[in-house]
Amino acid sequence: MIKRALRILLLFALVTVLGLGLWARYGPKPKPAPAPVVVSQETPSEAPEVRPGRDSRPPEAHLVTAAKGSMRNPSEGSCGPYRRVSDVRQQQLLEICERVAAPLEGAFRRRFGLEPRGVPREGVFLFESRKAFQSFAQKDGRLRAGYAGYANGAKGFVAIPAGSLDPEIFATTLAHELTHLLLRRAMGPGLPPWLSEGLADAMGDPATPAGLGELTGFAGVEGQARRLRDAYRGGVAASVQSIVSRRRSEFDQGALSFDYEQSALLVRFLLLHPALGPRFRSFLEDIAGASIHDPEQLPQALGKSWSQLDGEFRAWVLASG
Ligand SMILES: [Zn+2]
Repeated sequence: MIKRALRILLLFALVTVLGLGLWARYGPKPKPAPAPVVVSQETPSEAPEVRPGRDSRPPEAHLVTAAKGSMRNPSEGSCGPYRRVSDVRQQQLLEICERVAAPLEGAFRRRFGLEPRGVPREGVFLFESRKAFQSFAQKDGRLRAGYAGYANGAKGFVAIPAGSLDPEIFATTLAHELTHLLLRRAMGPGLPPWLSEGLADAMGDPATPAGLGELTGFAGVEGQARRLRDAYRGGVAASVQSIVSRRRSEFDQGALSFDYEQSALLVRFLLLHPALGPRFRSFLEDIAGASIHDPEQLPQALGKSWSQLDGEFRAWVLASG
């Protein structure tokens, strides 16, 4: 009896073991526990920072040939970090070139808080005669070369009829045109014209034959301030919103335009304003490298409405004299 009971017990144990084995092999599998979330203590490797703006370009060879072809006895040298091609006879102009161009990039960084990309490789073409300058400008496809000079960052040069300008105007023009090259390196091409011209004037207007000056009050823009005051009093000045919204093809058109004056003074007003200055510099940094510029970004960045901005700027200009 005991033997029989023992046999039944053994059989039962055998079936149980077999069953458990089969269950373990073919039965439903337990779900794997979720992998623990590992928070890495390492800082992720940083991608190399790509600066907005464009790399500088050396002047195209055919343009150097064209510039030299328009000059009488051209020679080469340097103008700060730039390659100078010139036929100007007054040594004083070459000295001004050096005094203005050498410290320009450092002053640009400090004044605007912007960092130009790469190194300067462009050329500075200085013409003794206005006729030679105009002949070069025509070869370059510029039909309107009545200016005191122009810059073309994409082709890598600035061209100035230096010998036909008085030293004051030459210093201002050179700093203005070289700033266009720096703006291309720091912010890229295609800036709205008010900003491009206003920033170039913020470096150009304080420059003198002694070198770059500081941006203070209305120093260096007394004439522009007077013209703009008269325009405000006569009710013919455009609003800040319309200046900021102008495209290149709309800028400085018509017989009575104050676009250059308003751009120069608006940028100066913003740079010198104790509260708006830092906001304006952040705005410049934010829009650097952008391919599309929305005028509404300016009042947003400054925390002002268009009419507030217009009123404060106008009051500042009118208080200048
Ligand atoms: Zn300009």
